[in-house]
Amino acid sequence: MSGFTEQRQRMVDRYKRAGYIKSKRVEEAINAVPRELFMDKRYRDYAYHDQPFPIPGDGRQTISAPYMYPVTYEPLKLQPGQRFLEIGTGSGYGAAIARELVDSSGLVVTVEINPETYRFARENLTKAGYNDVEVILGDGTLGYPELAPYDAVSITASTPDIPPPIYQQMAQQSRLIAPVGNPGHYGQDLLLYERFGAESSKRKLMSVVYVPLIGKYGFPG
Ligand code: SAH
Repeated sequence: MSGFTEQRQRMVDRYKRAGYIKSKRVEEAINAVPRELFMDKRYRDYAYHDQPFPIPGDGRQTISAPYMYPVTYEPLKLQPGQRFLEIGTGSGYGAAIARELVDSSGLVVTVEINPETYRFARENLTKAGYNDVEVILGDGTLGYPELAPYDAVSITASTPDIPPPIYQQMAQQSRLIAPVGNPGHYGQDLLLYERFGAESSKRKLMSVVYVPLIGKYGFPG
């Protein structure tokens, strides 16, 4: 099998052709992060396969399929200097890509509810050299008011609806992406919300299958 760097480049080319990667910025961010460092050891060889893989936790955690990151980050349009909140740290891979996009002048806050997954993500981010991501152990349905407001939010677990505290922590001009709908194989709607002051819009990007969001405004754990 070819090396990880070559596999990563091939994945990026594949996602450009498929239309998942549209911008140079997202392309460079994905190219900058070694996904193999965010995989469970057992699955490391499959880091560049187009599917999710289990990670440490209580059996419900995964590193999302790699195309979900461009699918999420292209419409969020993250810019250097922006403040980004991720709910569901998982492996830490999504936080690392966000860090590349907002760069060191911005802020990445990511919240994980499972202690074992939280430890896994912290280790991965440190190994990969991302020492300035704020990784928080807690219930992400409450957002993280201490560092609000956020210019962009990504919820990476299926949610019955957008948790009210998260709305409150969004900047006047901001975007949010979340898979909304019941967990399970029938899938959810990946929704993009855009807020312009008092106005907002919502549109469906695609159907997806994510693990459930638990916690106060999530599904019963
Ligand atoms: N973004 C991740 C994938 C996340 S999988 C990555 O890049 O690897 C979804 C994660 O959401 C799981 O780790 C799960 O434990 C976590 N989760 C579920 N409910 C949560 C909640 N209320 N708050 C924070 N994290 C939650």
